This record gives sequence, structure tokens and C-alpha cells, in this order.
Amino acid sequence: MITLINFSGGIDSTYCLYKYMKDYKKSDETVIVHHNILVNNTGRWQKELEACHKILNWLKEHGIDDFKYVETKFEQPKEFKTPLDSILHIGYISGVIALTYNISHIVYSSPRDEYERLGIIEMQRRSRNAEAVRKIVCGKTLSVIDMISNTKKKTLMKEIPKDLLDMCWFCRVPDADGKPCGECHTCKCVLPILKQINTKIK
Ligand SMILES: [Zn+2]
Repeated sequence: MITLINFSGGIDSTYCLYKYMKDYKKSDETVIVHHNILVNNTGRWQKELEACHKILNWLKEHGIDDFKYVETKFEQPKEFKTPLDSILHIGYISGVIALTYNISHIVYSSPRDEYERLGIIEMQRRSRNAEAVRKIVCGKTLSVIDMISNTKKKTLMKEIPKDLLDMCWFCRVPDADGKPCGECHTCKCVLPILKQINTKIK
């Protein structure tokens, strides 16, 4: 069994990586952790990359590093405005990684909030498209390990160690100084929960 975990440095995929390595991974299983540096006009990629490296260091310090980490980079042409995220990451690039490392399983890391925000039909449509693209690239269907589609982000944030959570990046469109915008759908979901968790700790 060779498993691919797409890792963005955000809360959902960090939770899945942490939890999978701790509680799911079998002793004879190989895990490939992949981060795609998607350079586009949102200015998000530097923050994500920074978060990924901090999180990987944290995991190493805590002895959770029995995986191979792979980075790829894609520079989105400026005139191309449509976000490429799901098709590009889960579809095309995952297909290339699957082909390269003979991947058999892939971890999906969308929490229940995403299904509620976009609707199950839209989420299924995105998955089907990504899976079709992936199959064209790697020539096979990967088994999906769905870890958190029934779990709310709030629960993930409470379960993950606090210092690890603090390293995660979440804003879709940070400002020029790299601060969370406070306006995007992820900021609106995450900021009140972070405030709640921090208040409780104080
Ligand atoms: Zn934001």
C-alpha cells in the first residue's frame, strides 16, 4: 500500500497528515506527502509554503516523520483567472505523483463544512472531474481514504495540538503584508473558532 496525502499547510490537510501518521498508517505502508506550490495572483503560496515547512519540522521533532515529502511547483499564467486548485492538485498533479511513486491510495481532506458550503452534488462533481483527470494521467483508479467529510473544521481544530494549529495557514487571499484578509470563506469560518480556542486557553 502506497498512500498519497496532498498537504497544503492548511488546517484540514495538516490534521489529516498528523492523524493519519499517528493512527492510520500501517507499518509496511509507504506514505508520500505532497505539497504543490501554486504560484498565482492571490499571494497565498509563500504563506502556505512557510506553514508547510514549519509543520514538517514540528512533526519531525515529535517523531512523526516516517513519510517521503515531495514538492512540485506550478506557476499559473497571469491571464488565467479561474482557480485551478481541485482539478490541478487532486487531478493532474496527483496523477503525476501517482505514476511516479506507484500510489495505490489517496487521502481526501475536505471537512463537512466544505460539503455544506458547496453542496454534496458540487463536491461530487469536483471529485469525479479530478478523478477522471487523474486516471488519464496515471492510468488507474486510486482508492480514496475519506478521513473528515463527516467532521466539522471546528472539531479538527480542537483535536489538533494547539502549537501545530498555530502553524497552519488558512486565508485564501492574504493582504500585501501576508495577513489574513478576514473576509474570505475560510477566514470567516476559522477566525471565530481560533478566538474561542485562544480565550479558553487563557
Ligand atoms: Zn481570508
